[in-house]
Amino acid sequence: MSQIILTGDRPTGRLHVGHYVGSLRRRVELQNSGEYDKIFIMIADAQALTDNADNPEKVRQNIIEVALDYLSCGLDPEKSIMFIQSQVPELTELSFYYMNLVTVSRLQRNPTVKSEIQMRNFEASIPVGFFTYPISQASDITAFKATTVPVGDDQLPMIEQCREIVHKFNSVYGETLVMPKALIPENESCSRLPGIDGKAKMSKSLGNCIYLSDSEEEVQKKIMSMFTDPDHLKVSDPGKIEGNTVFIYLDAFCRDEHFAKYLPDYQNLDELKAHYQRGGLGDVKVKRFLNAVMQEELAPIRSRRKELEKDIPAVYEILRKGSAEAERTAAQTLSEVKRAMKINYFDDMELIREQAKRYSEG
Ligand code: ATP
Ligand code: MG
Repeated sequence: MSQIILTGDRPTGRLHVGHYVGSLRRRVELQNSGEYDKIFIMIADAQALTDNADNPEKVRQNIIEVALDYLSCGLDPEKSIMFIQSQVPELTELSFYYMNLVTVSRLQRNPTVKSEIQMRNFEASIPVGFFTYPISQASDITAFKATTVPVGDDQLPMIEQCREIVHKFNSVYGETLVMPKALIPENESCSRLPGIDGKAKMSKSLGNCIYLSDSEEEVQKKIMSMFTDPDHLKVSDPGKIEGNTVFIYLDAFCRDEHFAKYLPDYQNLDELKAHYQRGGLGDVKVKRFLNAVMQEELAPIRSRRKELEKDIPAVYEILRKGSAEAERTAAQTLSEVKRAMKINYFDDMELIREQAKRYSEG
């Protein structure tokens, strides 16, 4: 069976380092591994509109930001198909049919939807589109027959819901859709990177992000202001690693070779952590090290972005071509779905012939 990836992001802002360690860095590795037959990367504008219906300009302006972030991280239009969700209308049509296979109570139980509703203060008036976005996400995944969906762990309930839809569809209408699986980073710090304020998840909606396109100075300022262990007041005090944002970021970003380069008194992160826990290691020293490590990773991304920004029409052209190619694939799946659901009347010569016969005999 072909190995196919589908993944994407909402154009609600520029991409941040949470996206990077949770999904984007992995996508680039998978893209370059040569192990996948097709890779689809979607800018989920229709999904972004489900909770930004009154702010279409925000979504419109952020398409290019997300595309620039993709390309500057190393997604390559020769190897990955980058497209805009709303430009593939087949996805909406699939959602309409999948809606019959999901109950309201099942959607209400989806933990990600629950917490997102809370975060947006939607309790009293949830837009129907937002409430049903897990169904639309199932359309996105199945339209491309994706086998693998690389995401952060907040998306696990979505993939689970998608798998249920696939199972239900195939058992009602016959084997048609491909069962996908989520690919979550093994490193816990990467699968849900906290914000610089130490809040559970770095998220555009919470305003606690380090953006991939932040300047060197902005990144440094944000790192130096990061939440650490509030009880670690004096350098000599023993410090806590658990819940300490700076160490969680080091887990996500640093490798042994960074020590030789920037902090040669230590061999690896375990030694640094042990010293911090013993006492005698100040936050500023650890933050400076984190800054060196992150700047090394972000600098090439930033400079590629500067180059790409010089030719915005070329970036739109990549998305236009990608959207056309994505639509061809989704149209093929939609026609298989319609055949399975027996709503392909005009292609079904047998149906027409059989009814004609019945009427001529009658
Ligand atoms: P919004 O607040 O608009 O929902 P977001 O920051 O949550 O934005 P999404 O576009 O919803 O970003 O997420 C895109 C992808 O990035 C998903 O696969 C998601 O799991 C992953 N992701 C988002 N935030 C993080 C994070 N802090 N750590 C790891 N992965 C993340
Ligand atoms: Mg999100």
